[in-house]
Amino acid sequence: MIGLIAATAAGRRAAVQLADALGADACRVYDAPVGEALRTAFGECEQLVCFLATGATVRLLAPLLAAEGSDKHTDPGVVCVDEARRFAVALIGGHEGGANALAARVAAALDAQAVITTATDATGLAGLDTLGLSVTGDLAAVSRALLDGEPVRLVGAERHPLPAFPANVSADAPAGAPTIVVGDELPADDGEFATVQLQTPSLVVGVGASKGAPAEEIRTLIRETLAEAGLSERSIACLATVTAKADESGLLTVAQELGVPVEIFEADTLAAVDVPNPSTAPLQAVGTPSVAEAAALLAAGANELLVPKRKSTPEGRAAMATVAIARKPARGRLAIVGLGPGARDLVTDRARAELRRASVIVGLDQYVDQIRDLLRPGVRIEATGLGAEEERARSAVRLTQQGLAVALIGSGDAGVYAMASPALAEAGDDIDVVGVPGVTAALAAAALLGAPLGHDHVSISLSDLHTPWEVIERRVRAAAEADLVVTFYNPRSRARDWQLPKALAILAEHREAATTPVGIARSVSRPDQWHSVTTLAALDPTDVDMFTVVTVGNTASRQIAGRFVTPRGYRWQG
Ligand code: SAH
Repeated sequence: MIGLIAATAAGRRAAVQLADALGADACRVYDAPVGEALRTAFGECEQLVCFLATGATVRLLAPLLAAEGSDKHTDPGVVCVDEARRFAVALIGGHEGGANALAARVAAALDAQAVITTATDATGLAGLDTLGLSVTGDLAAVSRALLDGEPVRLVGAERHPLPAFPANVSADAPAGAPTIVVGDELPADDGEFATVQLQTPSLVVGVGASKGAPAEEIRTLIRETLAEAGLSERSIACLATVTAKADESGLLTVAQELGVPVEIFEADTLAAVDVPNPSTAPLQAVGTPSVAEAAALLAAGANELLVPKRKSTPEGRAAMATVAIARKPARGRLAIVGLGPGARDLVTDRARAELRRASVIVGLDQYVDQIRDLLRPGVRIEATGLGAEEERARSAVRLTQQGLAVALIGSGDAGVYAMASPALAEAGDDIDVVGVPGVTAALAAAALLGAPLGHDHVSISLSDLHTPWEVIERRVRAAAEADLVVTFYNPRSRARDWQLPKALAILAEHREAATTPVGIARSVSRPDQWHSVTTLAALDPTDVDMFTVVTVGNTASRQIAGRFVTPRGYRWQG
């Protein structure tokens, strides 16, 4: 819940507007004297927006922050908005309380400017606590060294696909420098120098349990086993077991407490896994000689166990639980990111986030230039010139296989006549892949032309460099016969000038040349954007080049008030 607190009439109006924008269900507006309102809201809400001066807010918050039970990790994030609603200031809880993100949302809703002062965001560095990994240790000291440009040692970078760090962070910084350790071990208690431990979610705990095994017994066994092996509970990715134990309540309770899922495997599947300690008891009970060890290995995709099977040791009765632990091998992360047609405000927020999530950017140099300022300092750039598509795709996959966080970028949507397919044709199941959709040229052009895609439509590339012309022609003919609206990509270049007239002639065999609208849209959303709506008969091919898409209407498409409209075909539209 987001608490909204206002003292003045203007503040209350802004609060109502904000509640409308964020969703009334997600917000609660507090009136009454502001001091009391803030105290109540502080206890009830995850986030607060105060339509108050920062000074007043700080004075009201101070006793709450000093009170017993107040904690940076659980206190609400607080945003202040000034009376003239020009600024949304993230006041406390920038990262963990979500105030930085909330300030951005509030700013968007009220047309104000977000003010973010947490250093790592302000300077574009990776905030160590924003990587989605659990963090322990001296975060403040290591972050400060990171920002001050002091040498910071990075240990275990190969164990998780991390975003880029600036040049002062490296594996060979001197021992004794502030250190970032990445892994699933318990943080070393090394009082000497500042250390931050980023816990990778890489441990799988295989669990075998007799019917009715108490949660407490399973919990204790897991805790002791991890501690003895020097492993951190925060690094548990999941528990794993056999289908017959999927509803075992003690096991489910422990998974819920740990906040991790339970992966379930069929007994047959587990029985096929080669394990160090098979036994007859589970074979008789559930049909596999190993549950804990086999499930841990399978769920982790590992060949060997970190900790072989251990039994619980309850006092005065037989053990009811077993565990074994395996480590997931590090997997690289390939983001395939569409950057949209060109304009900066058509790059989605998700695309931006993925660009900042990566440590390596792979793409055509002209696209890299388009987004260079969105990248983190220290990011590695693998830009190549036109052509070399296969090589680019292969290099993105190879880098990902090395365990890195790679972003493969492309204009429009990266899957439309672009890099996604050659890359995924190369990729195996040993990497993670995340796709980010982008606004493809056909859609960007359509928005400019009017509503040409209101009914069934198709895209056809006229480039016969990689596709034989016979294939292209067959598809154009099929589209013509099916009366589809057609958008031509790669329509015409200096060396390929006969294909477009040929394709248009085929369409004209099935639709009225004099009246069928044709939209030409060049460099959409870029500074030299140009578009025109003409007809099949009147189109001048020299208006068309490789930065253009050409959209041809179906037999129902019309020009209305200079706009290209394809009727949706509802009866009420006649
Ligand atoms: N992945 C891209 C398409 C790459 S193929 C996308 O989804 O948009 C390249 C062709 O796309 C160009 O020849 C042109 O036909 C079209 N194109 C790309 N960007 C364009 C833009 N901003 N305006 C008009 N056409 C564009």
